[in-house]
Amino acid sequence: MKRSMWVVGLAAVVVAGCSGSSGGSERRGLKAVSGEQPIGVVTTTGMIADAVEHVGGHFVRVKALMGPGVDPHLYKASEGDIARLSEADIIFYNGLNLEGKMGDVFVKMARGKPVIPVTDGMDRTLLREPPEFQGHYDPHVWFDVSMWSSILGEVANALGTLDPAHARDYTANAERYRTELLELHTWCRREIARIPKAQRVLITAHDAFGYFGRAYDIEVVGLQGISTVSEYGLKDVQRLVDVIVARGIKAVFVESSVPRRSIEAVVQGVLARDQMVAIGGQLFSDAMGTPGTPEGTYVGMVRANVTTIVTALLGSGGGT
Ligand SMILES: [Zn+2]
Repeated sequence: MKRSMWVVGLAAVVVAGCSGSSGGSERRGLKAVSGEQPIGVVTTTGMIADAVEHVGGHFVRVKALMGPGVDPHLYKASEGDIARLSEADIIFYNGLNLEGKMGDVFVKMARGKPVIPVTDGMDRTLLREPPEFQGHYDPHVWFDVSMWSSILGEVANALGTLDPAHARDYTANAERYRTELLELHTWCRREIARIPKAQRVLITAHDAFGYFGRAYDIEVVGLQGISTVSEYGLKDVQRLVDVIVARGIKAVFVESSVPRRSIEAVVQGVLARDQMVAIGGQLFSDAMGTPGTPEGTYVGMVRANVTTIVTALLGSGGGT
C-alpha cells in the first residue's frame, strides 16, 4: 500500500518537473528523503562542501557556491545562487559572520528548509575574539583541523534528521573522517614544530591564520598595515623589517591583496641590513584550490599550506 503511494508521489514530481520550474522544490525534498534520489545540498564554502561530501557519501549531491579564490566576507548571492539555494533540500554555511552579506538570504531560505550554520555547536570558549574582528568571533575556524573536525557531528545530525533511514551511515562516515582529520592535525603540529622556535613566524596579509597559529604554535604577524602606501604604511614596513632581521625569519607569504611594491619594500629593507628574506609562496586562506587537484580538497589544502610554510621558513626550498 505504502509503496504505491510513493509511486503516485513520484509521478506527480515528474509532472511538476516537466511543466514548470517553480513550486517543485518541496516535492523534490520529499523525493530525496524517500531515498530515490540523493539529497540536494548547497554549501557556501568548499571546506563545508568537503565535510558534507564525506559525511553524506553517495546519499548526497553537494554544490558549493564559492569556488577557488572567492572571498566569502564580500560574497553576495547571485540570481543563480538564489535558484540553487531554493532548489536545495538543505543548506550548510559557516556562520560566525563569515558570509557577512548573505544573512538575509539564509533567513529567507530557513522558512522552507533546514539552514545549518556548521559552527553553531562549537564551544564558544574556544573561539577567538581578536580586536580586529570588532566584537565578533574570528570565523576562520577551519584552520584548526581539530576544531573543524567537530562540525562533522553537526553535519551528521542534520542529514540524519532529514533522512533518518541513513542516520547511522552519516554518523559512521563522520566518525571515520574525524579520525582522518585528527591524524592530519597531529601531522600539522609535527611539521610546524620542525621550524626552530625563533623563526616560527607566519608573516601574511590575510587575517585568516589566527586559529592556525594557536593550534600549531606559530606566531602570526599581519602584513595588513603595509597595504596602504602612507606614512603609517611605511612605519609598518620598518616594523616588519625589524622583526625579520631580529629573528632571522626566512620568508614572508603574499596574497593578491597586498601591493607588490609594499612587499618589495620589506624585502629591500631586509637586504639592506645584510639578510635574506624570500617571498614564500601563496597560501590558501578562505577558499580551497581548483576541484580535481589535491588542493581542491580540505585535507589537500591544509597539507599544501603546511608544506609551503615549512619549506619556506626552513629555507630548504633552494633557489627561491
Ligand atoms: Zn577571511
